[in-house]
Amino acid sequence: MKFCSHCATPVEVKTPEGDNRPRFVCPGCDTIFYQNPRIVAGTLPVYRNGDLHQILLCKRAIEPRKGYWTLPAGFMENGESTVQAAERETLEEANARVISQSAFTMISVPHINQVHLFYLADLPEPEFSSGSESLEVALFDEKDIPWKEIAFPTVARTLKHYFANQHDPQELQRCASSVIELDQALKKLEEEEKQRYKSANRQTS
Ligand SMILES: [Zn+2]
Repeated sequence: MKFCSHCATPVEVKTPEGDNRPRFVCPGCDTIFYQNPRIVAGTLPVYRNGDLHQILLCKRAIEPRKGYWTLPAGFMENGESTVQAAERETLEEANARVISQSAFTMISVPHINQVHLFYLADLPEPEFSSGSESLEVALFDEKDIPWKEIAFPTVARTLKHYFANQHDPQELQRCASSVIELDQALKKLEEEEKQRYKSANRQTS
């Protein structure tokens, strides 16, 4: 960044007092701009056709890695949970409605300041099509996965982890089901908070 987003003064790079790394600091209004990793949330959509497990992949229509295959995923938006972000991205990129089962892989990518989180998800029906960011969307058997054309290492690792454990449902579920429970607990808290707020408003009006 070059300018303060509060007062438009050119920012400086310095280590604030009590901090241990350089930040963008505004000499005009003393605002410190912290930059933190961003979360990419996505799904690993599985369509079960009898004994056959097929995975939904999207061919990227945009850079980076245009023309390479990926799992549907993208940056979280403010105001949504990780599950909501993962399912929204799946709908946007593949026009597919999935049912998330559990958080499956969470991989830090420190060299680009990102965290990639993939949910294991059921694709109940083989219904999907290309969203605006995809050239093509298709179901793949394990033997047909285009390993040399996978867009990102975190996607390849997530796929490999799935195929290594696909016949062991307990192992698949063990990965991080507690994350979903936490998400549901948070939703409940949010709901309670809203109710409290409503009744407080009723009492004052
Ligand atoms: Zn400023």
